[in-house]
Amino acid sequence: MSEAPRAAAPDPAPGAGTMTVPALAARIDRVALRAPVFISDLHLSALRPATVAHFLSFLRGLPAATAELVVLGDLFEFWAGDDALAGAEADDALGGTVAQALADLAGRGIAAYLMHGNRDLLLGEAFLARSRAQLLADPTVATVGSAADAGGPLALLLSHGDAWCTLDLPYQAFRRQARDAAFQAGFLRQPLAQRRALIGQARARSEAGKQQMAMEIMDVTPDAVAGALRTAGLRHVLHGHTHRPDHHEFSLDGQPAHRWVLPDWEIEALPPRGGGLAWRDGKLHPLAG
Ligand code: MN
Repeated sequence: MSEAPRAAAPDPAPGAGTMTVPALAARIDRVALRAPVFISDLHLSALRPATVAHFLSFLRGLPAATAELVVLGDLFEFWAGDDALAGAEADDALGGTVAQALADLAGRGIAAYLMHGNRDLLLGEAFLARSRAQLLADPTVATVGSAADAGGPLALLLSHGDAWCTLDLPYQAFRRQARDAAFQAGFLRQPLAQRRALIGQARARSEAGKQQMAMEIMDVTPDAVAGALRTAGLRHVLHGHTHRPDHHEFSLDGQPAHRWVLPDWEIEALPPRGGGLAWRDGKLHPLAG
């Protein structure tokens, strides 16, 4: 599922530009989570006000025991760069509102973690500072719960998931480019309005391309997931991106393994979609959106 900037090649002017390049930002790839709630693929946009309102009320209503909120990518439908926080459009105001709502979690003792998805991979240092959130690398190894939990601690590999959609070759080529620091720097040097226009064009092309693509190509490849688990030495993985919420049990080198997939959010849809997973009593439980 390619979204975000499949942009024209930027013209790199060395030394120009001052905005943080997200790919170069300091990131965490190991994290201990005591009582997390996991969500992803909210695709927040001014065009979906009901989903935005629902998300803000979801944050206010997080279970009291929640210690961490972890957003595994695609918090926003698109992100043109952190300078949008000072922009004048409806989506710019939305960015500030969401950052503030995440920052408010800190006052309740809930730590916020974000991972880049494919649509919001230009979220940078300014947004992180405003939202008081920490950026996780993709993938990140999380230790969830504690030895006091019946099922814990659980060593869980966290990812957005798009890196494992390896059958979608055009998307993977785009993904490499979009995550390249020089490409991002060049893109961010263009005026905000120009970036918005390029993203809009890329999204339109991507929607058209998806209609011709077999569903299995846009899902994760079992071999890619298995490879990532072997590399990490783990047997439990949680991701989003595919919009196919499920709990898959499978065998990895003769051992039981688990893959949880988070739902996407669209409160405007019938039936509405949303929710996530919460760690409680030593297990991951579905949490209504
Ligand atoms: Mn995605």
